[in-house]
Amino acid sequence: MARAGFEARLQRSGLEQGWRYLRYNSGMRTILHLDLDAFFCAVEELDNPALQDRLFAVGGRPDERGVVSSCSYAARALGVHSAMPMKLAIRQCPGLLIVEPHHSRYSEMSHQVMDRLGNLSPLVEQISVDEAFVDITDLRRAPEQVARQILANIRDELRLPCSIGIAANKLVAKIATEVGKKAAHGSGYPRAITIVEPGREAEFLAPLPATLLWGVGKKTEAVLAELGMHTIGDIARRPEVDLIQRFGKTGRELSLHARGIDDRPVVTEHQAKSVSQETTFSRDLSDDQLIESTLKSLSAHVAHTLRHEKLAGKTIRLKLRWPDFTTLTRLVTLSTPTDQEKDIYEAALALLRKNRSSGQAVRLIGVGISGLGEPAFQMALWDQSNVKQRKLQGVVDALQDKFGKKVIDKGWRG
Ligand SMILES: [Mg+2]
Repeated sequence: MARAGFEARLQRSGLEQGWRYLRYNSGMRTILHLDLDAFFCAVEELDNPALQDRLFAVGGRPDERGVVSSCSYAARALGVHSAMPMKLAIRQCPGLLIVEPHHSRYSEMSHQVMDRLGNLSPLVEQISVDEAFVDITDLRRAPEQVARQILANIRDELRLPCSIGIAANKLVAKIATEVGKKAAHGSGYPRAITIVEPGREAEFLAPLPATLLWGVGKKTEAVLAELGMHTIGDIARRPEVDLIQRFGKTGRELSLHARGIDDRPVVTEHQAKSVSQETTFSRDLSDDQLIESTLKSLSAHVAHTLRHEKLAGKTIRLKLRWPDFTTLTRLVTLSTPTDQEKDIYEAALALLRKNRSSGQAVRLIGVGISGLGEPAFQMALWDQSNVKQRKLQGVVDALQDKFGKKVIDKGWRG
């Protein structure tokens, strides 16, 4: 699609204008997407101010078949883009300066940016070195104000430029950032803030090219074009059944996304990772009771970490290493998430008994839990014993935090 036409339509739709703060009592989420502008180049400029406003690209040497990793906006204006072979970039833009990448610097700066986002909300999902989602639903401030503050913060404290998109879900927020960057004029950093008001997602997406949707690559684009679908709006207007018929399961997603619907949560590092604990014995251990009591204390440790971080998990993992150093890992998934030692131990113990015969020597034993999320307490509402157990657990945790793990042994039997 011609850029000018697309920009005109964007302006006509008035979406770049003010945001009415409708979130209250709507139950809607507010998701912020941040993307650092020409990140590698911005860091290089920071370390070498002589590069400012110059035509340069970070990437591999042309004689070594290098490609452009990132290029300055001055170079972009002349048609250089990332992933382009450096040889071609130089042909496109004679005099292009090639700067060799400094990845450890980039990751250092990336950490600093992510730390700042983490100060804003605990719900940060980093999706690449220079991009992240933040769920800002619970911040009682207008999204635009939040966006301006982050942008200023990262500019003033880290001297890095970034662009921000805000919308009711991840899909639309990310596209908003992209659209804002494209619509920014000039050869400088875009530093764009683009906000899509809740309820106007489909309207915002409609004029945009289909390729902006996640999962629409060259192949899907060609098929869509063949069927007369060029914009996201074209897809949204198609009956979902047609799309399912043509694309299978992806068709349903295409239809939902084209209408601006995306329920995916912001997944923090905590949720993606697992909590685990393991012990290597100083000598191979074959005593059933000792092995099982080790497993119990490892389970207690894992459960304690979960509760401390206000997480619960569903998939329990047992790890065993035999004296010959071969390692076995077995998983079991519970029906509901747990943060309780008893549940973790019982699941791990069942796995242990299934996979180890009595008296068999073990070198290392470990237990872990993944599929992490917030604990589901609903069960406790009608399960009084669970309520008591949880209250007791709270007291025990508090004591252990204060006086150390050994202060209390609750004495339940697995
Ligand atoms: Mg970027």
